[in-house]
Amino acid sequence: MNEKIIILNTGGTIAMESDELSSAVKPGIHQPLHALINRLKQYAPVEMQDLYNLPSPHITPQRMKELSQTVHHLSEDEQVQGIVITHGTDTLEETAFLLDLTLTTDKPVIVTGAMRSNNELGADGPINLLESVRTATHKKSWNRGTLIVFNNEIHAARYVTKTHTSSVATFKSPSTGPIGSITKRDISYFQSPFRQEVYQIQGNHHNVPLVKLVAGFDPSWLEFFLNQPIQGIVLEAFGAGNVPPAILPAINQFIKKNIPVVMVSRCYNGYVQDLYDYEGGGNQLKKMGVIFCNGLNGQKARIKLLVLLDAQIKIEDYSPHFSF
Ligand code: ASP
Repeated sequence: MNEKIIILNTGGTIAMESDELSSAVKPGIHQPLHALINRLKQYAPVEMQDLYNLPSPHITPQRMKELSQTVHHLSEDEQVQGIVITHGTDTLEETAFLLDLTLTTDKPVIVTGAMRSNNELGADGPINLLESVRTATHKKSWNRGTLIVFNNEIHAARYVTKTHTSSVATFKSPSTGPIGSITKRDISYFQSPFRQEVYQIQGNHHNVPLVKLVAGFDPSWLEFFLNQPIQGIVLEAFGAGNVPPAILPAINQFIKKNIPVVMVSRCYNGYVQDLYDYEGGGNQLKKMGVIFCNGLNGQKARIKLLVLLDAQIKIEDYSPHFSF
């Protein structure tokens, strides 16, 4: 029988407190989320577990994989009907996407956090957590991949990104919009995440840098990585997928060394394509063997590349895994 909702705490502002004099925000001695348990129990049988108490800039892909393992084991318990993870918002989208790519469960897995710390006026943590628990108990939340509940909205892990440094409405899905909304009375879904792909990972570590291109990019900045122990590289290129011609030789060398070069756009929205046929244009990059990634921003394309490497997918088969 499916009964409890497990809340797994990992840290973030939702678990922090603001100093009354300096207003500096940091983790306290106690985990303040435990004080909400009785309130949450009015909505569902919840059980809270503390996994980490880390600001999310301290979360690494290794920790994300550990979290995925923990969620996997919890989801196999037939007493558990859903799992809610509290997490810092800075890297929340990366953790949520790694979970989305690696978890096989069809039970609801929800990631949430807060922009205001626990003791600030207008703290958004308690309402985000409550709405996450409600979403996790909802029968329509099954089989939707990893979800992000924030500010009365439900987003798919694949499409969501943090867009504002302080607004409580920070999480947006630029290409698709939210997939559902939460009111005091109900939870409604109005679209389903388009694709659910799951990879079996080994838990191995890989080095994959993300490099943002800028006008006048000095090729030596990229050449640096030719002598580093990296297994892949993600480029945030211009517009529809174009790069400065000066970096073409370095890109060629990565490809010759069998290091996958994945390209996303640094634009907030849209597609990379083999459109422009000038030096450094997408057309040329495609012919060189650059892998075009659509529907993901740079940080998520990097997570995907880490997962593909760890799942031991052959590099020559990567392209379809990066199409929208
Ligand atoms: N810096 C914080 C973190 O990600 C931000 C937050 O949680 O909202 O841990």
